[in-house]
Amino acid sequence: MALDLHDYIASYQDFPEPGVLFRDISPLMEDGQAYHQATDEIVKYAKEKKVDLIVGPEARGFIVGCPVAYDLGIGFVPARKKGKLPGETVSASYGLEYGKSSLYLHSDAVKPGQRVLITDDLLATGGTIEATIKLVEQLGGIVVGAAFIVEIEALKGREKIKDYDILSLLKY
Ligand code: IMP
Repeated sequence: MALDLHDYIASYQDFPEPGVLFRDISPLMEDGQAYHQATDEIVKYAKEKKVDLIVGPEARGFIVGCPVAYDLGIGFVPARKKGKLPGETVSASYGLEYGKSSLYLHSDAVKPGQRVLITDDLLATGGTIEATIKLVEQLGGIVVGAAFIVEIEALKGREKIKDYDILSLLKY
């Protein structure tokens, strides 16, 4: 029987700073059946979208995206933070609550015309996914969807990427 994945999300008030309610996918990852079920739902979506490649931002985008790529027998590309990739890169910056951050892809990681699914654990303001979309598109990839375990609806990330199709397994 299918699990209610809400039961596998932990909530931490005032983390990482006062006033923030942090949603944590750790219990979901720690439970084989829950992790499998979440992965299967994203695999199904990726099949519908005829995805060629998965791209996920550091670090929890890897946890969500890699098992999907493995299941489909396709590649996974990590979008990494500054100073982590050894080769030639492209970058995109995005706003954080205080200041800015950047994500990087190897310049040859996505081939023009490839159909890309972006994965991450959580959609909040949408800054991270927006930067990842920009990276993929700089390299000529076609972003056919974005998949998240959790979406925080009040932060309206979906509005920032309204031209793109989004799957979120759980909404808060
Ligand atoms: P956004 O860029 O504001 O949409 O934030 C999403 C990114 O920040 C994702 O990569 C998440 O891993 C991380 N993040 C933001 N809020 C939370 C949270 O409540 N729990 C877990 N990760 C979060």
